[in-house]
Amino acid sequence: MRILLAASEAVPFAKTGGLADVASGLSKALSARGHEVTLVLPYYRQAMSEAIPRQPTGRFLETSLGDLKVRAVVLESRLEGSDARVLLIDHPHYFDRSGLYVQQGSDYPDNCERFCAFSRLVMETARAFHLQPDIVHANDWQTGLIPALQQIEYRRQSGFERTAAVLTIHNMAYQGTFWQQDMHLTGLGHEYFNWNQMEHYGQLNLLKTGIVFSDAVTTVSPTYAREIQTDRFGCGLEGVLQHHGSKLTGILNGIDIDVWNPESDPAIPMPYSKENVKPGKAACKKKLQRRFNLSENPFTPLCGMISRMSEQKGFDLIQGCINDLLREDIQLVFLGTGDSHYEDFIRDLASKRPDKVAAMIGFDETLAHQIEAGSDIYLMPSRFEPCGLNQMYSQAYGTVPVVHAVGGLVDSVIDCTPETLADRIATGFHFQEYTSDAFLARLKDALAAYRDDDVWDVLIDNGMSCDWSWNRSAEVYEQTYERALASLPNNPPSTPE
Ligand code: ADP
Repeated sequence: MRILLAASEAVPFAKTGGLADVASGLSKALSARGHEVTLVLPYYRQAMSEAIPRQPTGRFLETSLGDLKVRAVVLESRLEGSDARVLLIDHPHYFDRSGLYVQQGSDYPDNCERFCAFSRLVMETARAFHLQPDIVHANDWQTGLIPALQQIEYRRQSGFERTAAVLTIHNMAYQGTFWQQDMHLTGLGHEYFNWNQMEHYGQLNLLKTGIVFSDAVTTVSPTYAREIQTDRFGCGLEGVLQHHGSKLTGILNGIDIDVWNPESDPAIPMPYSKENVKPGKAACKKKLQRRFNLSENPFTPLCGMISRMSEQKGFDLIQGCINDLLREDIQLVFLGTGDSHYEDFIRDLASKRPDKVAAMIGFDETLAHQIEAGSDIYLMPSRFEPCGLNQMYSQAYGTVPVVHAVGGLVDSVIDCTPETLADRIATGFHFQEYTSDAFLARLKDALAAYRDDDVWDVLIDNGMSCDWSWNRSAEVYEQTYERALASLPNNPPSTPE
């Protein structure tokens, strides 16, 4: 298939979260399965400063947002170790900025214009490069306009008649909502601003737009696909998702096993596999304890957490039980940035209890690898979690996750019970209620299991035996693409270009 993936970020060009890992991981996996993949991204300042090879293509693009003319040039690059092509849309006014979406905590006021322009430029890229895609695959609200453009404008044009539009939702909490005056920036007629299509409670909603106009919608885990059709997790779009439920599929993300592999990880002091996991993890733990001035006791369980410090990630639960937690024989290592009140809480904790708590407030990829390898237990008490990556990295590194039983965490961590242990499938610990007490109780179960070698060895071995490769997920995306193509009307409206 010819697949055009559009995303607002992808590793190594620009990253603020999991979407960046998914965009490049999925592109590589689809390309390895023989598809012709083109990934289209904005050319941000982050990408300019990275030592990434890129070259001009000599192609210019032009589109309009209502009365506004937008011109851009296109650069070309490649995903390392892959045939997947990357096309970078160079529009300095929109993308040569210090942040991707936000500056000093506030969204850029022209985000609607920036990403409506990007969405139109993606479609123009397909035309200028004669891509004739079978699939245009949009991701999140930033490219939510694309399915509407395909269905309303492009399907009538040569090269797009048999193109299906697919949207992946990475997080319902971000919907791209703008005041209704911004509708003109989409370049689509005002007749589409209605509650069945692009409007949601009086506002333009670009995620809803993508859901409504796509031929298939996916989200990043089967459990999250069910959850977002409920009012607890749907963030106001549950009704829309129920209505379009027949085209919604949950597909668990994979991880980049070239980057997250303890056997070949250059960031960790001793590479290890299932066969030498004990000495390997012991060496990594000792180095991590030393780095953070924690006592180098091999028997004290070390719990790690690497995370955006936001409401989503469950720091309020840690806050709620921290005194009880610190009564345990335990060490805690945190890495993250985000909301200042959580940063302050963690920083404070580390300065008051340096014997038990260590923290690094910042973004540090190398340290993230070292924490995954050096921890015994990984904490992921997220309030909600569309998929989550760190619980998968943890299992690949022989680190046992304790997770809130939501979203992708349910689908990727098998709760430890007498039955799952006996069946040799248990890989971690779930807690059900989103309360500090429930979290603490299950963490205590994990600490007890840590002291029982027979149980702990099985948990580590089960986790390290899982297949997290993108290949598994890419196969399911392929099936979804095929279903989307099969759902296209046989005779698309044809009018000359
Ligand atoms: P989300 O996309 O909601 O932030 P995910 O678990 O899906 O959460 O992905 C987050 C990604 O960002 C993971 O690869 C994680 O290791 C990484 N990450 C988050 N915070 C940091 C940090 N402070 N330093 C290094 N890596 C981080």
